[in-house]
Amino acid sequence: MQFSTAGGFERDCPAARSFYEHGGAVQRQDPLPYKVNLHKIEYTTCMNSKVAILKCSSYDSALVLETVKKAIGLLGGISTFVKPGSKVLVKPNLLMSKEPEYAITTHPEVVRSVIRLLKEINCKIFVGDSPSVWADYIENVDTVYERTGITKLCSQESVELVKFDKRRWRKNFPLTIWLDTCDYLVNVPKFKTHELTTLTGAIKNLFGLVCGTYKLELHKNNFNPNDFSKILVDIYEETRPALTVIDSIVAMQGDGPATSGKLCNTGLILAGVDALALDSLLAKIMNLSPLDILTNKEAASRKLGVSDINSIEILGEKLASIVNKSFELPTTSKKIKLPQPVIKLAKKLIKYYPCVEQGNCIRCSICIKTCPKKVITMTKKGIRFDYSNCIACFCCQEACPAAAIKVKKSLLAKIIGL
Ligand code: SF4
Ligand code: SF4
Repeated sequence: MQFSTAGGFERDCPAARSFYEHGGAVQRQDPLPYKVNLHKIEYTTCMNSKVAILKCSSYDSALVLETVKKAIGLLGGISTFVKPGSKVLVKPNLLMSKEPEYAITTHPEVVRSVIRLLKEINCKIFVGDSPSVWADYIENVDTVYERTGITKLCSQESVELVKFDKRRWRKNFPLTIWLDTCDYLVNVPKFKTHELTTLTGAIKNLFGLVCGTYKLELHKNNFNPNDFSKILVDIYEETRPALTVIDSIVAMQGDGPATSGKLCNTGLILAGVDALALDSLLAKIMNLSPLDILTNKEAASRKLGVSDINSIEILGEKLASIVNKSFELPTTSKKIKLPQPVIKLAKKLIKYYPCVEQGNCIRCSICIKTCPKKVITMTKKGIRFDYSNCIACFCCQEACPAAAIKVKKSLLAKIIGL
């Protein structure tokens, strides 16, 4: 049986057939969502909340490929998610131009394993991202691709490395037109902490589909973490990946997501379709509750997946074996551990701002160019912040290549030991 949409796109797919035969209702027993591309066909919401979690002790190429293949195999195999012969956009996290060893970006070996599996089913593969500080005047994306090892990888694998320089407005965002060119999106995030969103994983990684500096506009206009989380979930809702494979072999804890974070050897690969379920399990690894993460809370409220751990079918490792009780949260998120009444009472007095360790600062001015509120200046004595207009988005910390931007706490935050 073939299915036609208003756009004339046709597809023969068992999961889509089942979905449409059920009138588009959520069918949890259905095999899996099959088609993802909103511009061609309505995305199926028949989420399947199976998540595969497997141990992987290093970035040895063969080991990573074997682990990723096994993880996706537990979920039904790559062709359960992506139709053979189709065009696929692979989206790693390429935040900034740092080598893979910094654990700021998705390791090329994890990307390679996804590429190899897609090649097995004859897909045409495109790889790309829009790094956080990417703008002509800040940093050349070629440098980011080069240093993160993605240029070399794409050349070795003979796949096309693309730039997100052309956009199409979808909902309220200028998203890369490679989403239009491709039939499927495969999301390959890095598991890291994040000063603004606590976690960057399956949902947050999709922010890189927004072209260039418009990301800063979104930060500026949605500086409240709740509002920013809504934006991230909007993007997820608009672009839902066919599959997500998370690089958590070496993750990041502490003041992530960039140079101020600390490496954390979690030694895991996670794979699944339901980004909310995946991020809920990442929250558990961080020793948090899934709904402590605002994007999870927002996605759960929109019923975009499953956040209840008991309703997620975990294949591979046992949940108890992956929780890291000593996981270091970002400074700005330590208040999550306080009782809710205390947080509510002290909300206005527990504050965090960026500050510079002048000794580490290399005076590159990247923070100045990145700041959406333009409240950073370079003086003879070094970097200065106008705190009266700072929105505490921590874009400056995220972009700083020298780990020079730290988190300054308000007096109360210090007194209560946050
Ligand atoms: S100074 Fe840093 S935290 Fe403050 S608004 Fe600018 S980028 Fe955001
Ligand atoms: S604080 Fe960081 S980003 Fe800003 S000028 Fe110094 S090194 Fe560059």
